[in-house]
Amino acid sequence: MIIPLDPAGPRGPAHAPASQRPVRVSFEVFPPKSATADAELWPVLGKLAALGPEFVSVTCGAGGGTRGRTEGVVQRLRQETGAAPAAHLTCIGVDRGEIGEALAGYWRAGVRHIVALRGDPPGGPGAPFTPVADGFANATELVAAVARAAPFEISVAAYPETHPESPSAAHDIDVLKAKRDAGATRALTQFFFDPDAFFRFVDRAEAAGLDLPIVPGILPVSNVAAARRMAATCGAAFPDRYDRLFDGLDEDPETRRLLASALAVELCGKLHDQGFRNFHFYTLNRADLSYAVCRALGLRPAPAAQAA
Ligand SMILES: Cc1cc2nc3c(=O)[nH]c(=O)nc-3n(C[C@H](O)[C@H](O)[C@H](O)COP(=O)(O)OP(=O)(O)OC[C@H]3O[C@@H](n4cnc5c(N)ncnc54)[C@H](O)[C@@H]3O)c2cc1C
Repeated sequence: MIIPLDPAGPRGPAHAPASQRPVRVSFEVFPPKSATADAELWPVLGKLAALGPEFVSVTCGAGGGTRGRTEGVVQRLRQETGAAPAAHLTCIGVDRGEIGEALAGYWRAGVRHIVALRGDPPGGPGAPFTPVADGFANATELVAAVARAAPFEISVAAYPETHPESPSAAHDIDVLKAKRDAGATRALTQFFFDPDAFFRFVDRAEAAGLDLPIVPGILPVSNVAAARRMAATCGAAFPDRYDRLFDGLDEDPETRRLLASALAVELCGKLHDQGFRNFHFYTLNRADLSYAVCRALGLRPAPAAQAA
């Protein structure tokens, strides 16, 4: 298959052959919506942080509405778990001045990593996007502003099965290149279930000369109906096989969880076999599935965390 680019192509830094590169993971959580959900999140984050992730990213809700809560989780994450936080920042409902203030605040608070996104409009994925007056029109403009503000690490979104608003797969690669040129340092992909869709995307990126690590986004699926809905809104193909495997298990969450981790281990195994060593997990604020998959990828809690 493809030869890794040097020094940092879509497969990640190629300073050493894949066999010598360690597995590195990151986790994505969303700001909890209630006090109960908040109380449940912190043990989850403690367990995941013990695996020594590269970073833990905190989403910013559709419409930009959770920005305050995103900031709260990001600050607390650093203080309480020691994990490096990454704050998602979107262009929705905010102007350049407000983005500048948010970036200055994050920098002052010691946050060094921004996931820069256009964001989903208040109507949710697929709703028309209109920037506010003096707002950013797309993620590329936001990336440029983040890069100008301070030497942040900047992750951006990528879509193995093409962004739903994009006219073509080639256009998506052009947009990713523009984000790279504006200062992005890493792409995190939308989740996908077909590894070949991801490999084809990386092939296209490499053929276009994109020198940006592309990290596969992994969504361990235990609720098929919810996952199918999410996949439909973001343009990811949902495999019939998953429907067949989960058929009749609506009342059997334990078997669904076991299957979910087996399927995610299978997907990550295929990516690992092709030399990919970085994985970004959509945790949905739960530790169990992502944790099990990380164990299967060879990760273990640091000794101090094990003793605690
Ligand atoms: C890892 C990850 C994390 C995410 N986190 C969040 C989150 O926290 N909050 C949230 O609301 N959403 C989140 N999303 C969803 C994301 O905001 C949506 O997919 C959104 O619709 C697009 O965001 P983007 O940053 O990819 O936008 P862009 O890169 O700006 O692309 C958006 C669309 O505009 C087009 N486009 C971009 N630039 C140009 C240009 N110069 N000329 C012409 N067309 C252009 C692109 O083709 C694409 O169709 C996340 C997605 C991923 C993959």
